[in-house]
Amino acid sequence: MKRSSILILYTGGTIGMKTDAGTGSLVPFDFSGIYEEFPSLKRLQVDIAVHTLSPVIDSSNVAPENWVALAELIRANYDRYDGFVVLHGTDTMSYSASALSFLFENLAKPVVFTGSQIPIGVLRTDGRENLITAIEIAGARDAAGRPIVPEVSLYFQNRLFRANRTTKRSAEELSAFHSYNYPALADVGVNIAYNRAAIRTPERYGEPLRIATRLSDRLCLVKLFPGLSERMLRSMLSAPDLQGVVLETYGAGNAPTSPWFIGALREAIDRGIVVLNITQCEGGCVAMELYETGLGLQRIGVVSGRDMTTEAAVTKMMYLLGAGYTSEEVKRQLKKSLRGEFTE
Ligand code: ASP
Repeated sequence: MKRSSILILYTGGTIGMKTDAGTGSLVPFDFSGIYEEFPSLKRLQVDIAVHTLSPVIDSSNVAPENWVALAELIRANYDRYDGFVVLHGTDTMSYSASALSFLFENLAKPVVFTGSQIPIGVLRTDGRENLITAIEIAGARDAAGRPIVPEVSLYFQNRLFRANRTTKRSAEELSAFHSYNYPALADVGVNIAYNRAAIRTPERYGEPLRIATRLSDRLCLVKLFPGLSERMLRSMLSAPDLQGVVLETYGAGNAPTSPWFIGALREAIDRGIVVLNITQCEGGCVAMELYETGLGLQRIGVVSGRDMTTEAAVTKMMYLLGAGYTSEEVKRQLKKSLRGEFTE
């Protein structure tokens, strides 16, 4: 089988730092010297090219324009490479990776996000293993020569996840990411054990990759807490050009039953604002029919986000509102799993 060719896109973040031998401070790592730094990479059956985005950024500064630029870069190089590895800061990696999963249509090649908790140039780094295994996964093909993981995924500390199911769970532990509601796509030990049944495969191969280039910022994220006042809620819901609200509720999608709370949301929905209900819990699913405190939301037309992460809910809403759909169409699309982002 011919060698796979992989394009590494370095966007910024901890993975791209090394300790300066002279000063001891952290300085950027030059990924174009990747083979000199990690000679063992030559043993992988892959050819590697590196592109560093300019400027490289701490992922806390990531904005939707960066996602569109990244998607455009992948589209421009789509036919030349068999797979893509995106090196990204961990802080917002799940947002970026979820966003890209929605921006791509007809994706049939691997796009693997990874990063690290310890800079790559520090002796005890987790970045080396994350990078090398992400490259191997991006280049992995089955007996028929097809990519094994042709979707947007996130690899971290021995586990490969569907990107839009992930959340950054720890600022300390090396296993920084988790997918609470969907199994890992691969577990990495001595071998890489792919969970073929969990991996999404395209309906057709060979279709041209299309990307969406507009993401809306006319949305807000409202996390419920006991004590949220009518005044504060109404002020958020009355933002002049608001079109969508991601509502983080309690447990199985529950919220206060107070008339002012339901009334404020009902008025927003009547004005055409789409309200999507996701849970604050890490695991589990919104089921508004279970309790009176969920039913109130269901009755006024709040849409269930099922077991979607906040990252997937926000970026899916940005993508659908950006497409310019009517609120009825946005609601219809929210109820469909577009990229495997919720459990059907
Ligand atoms: N602040 C860094 C970033 O997200 C943290 C990291 O990469 O782990 O860019």
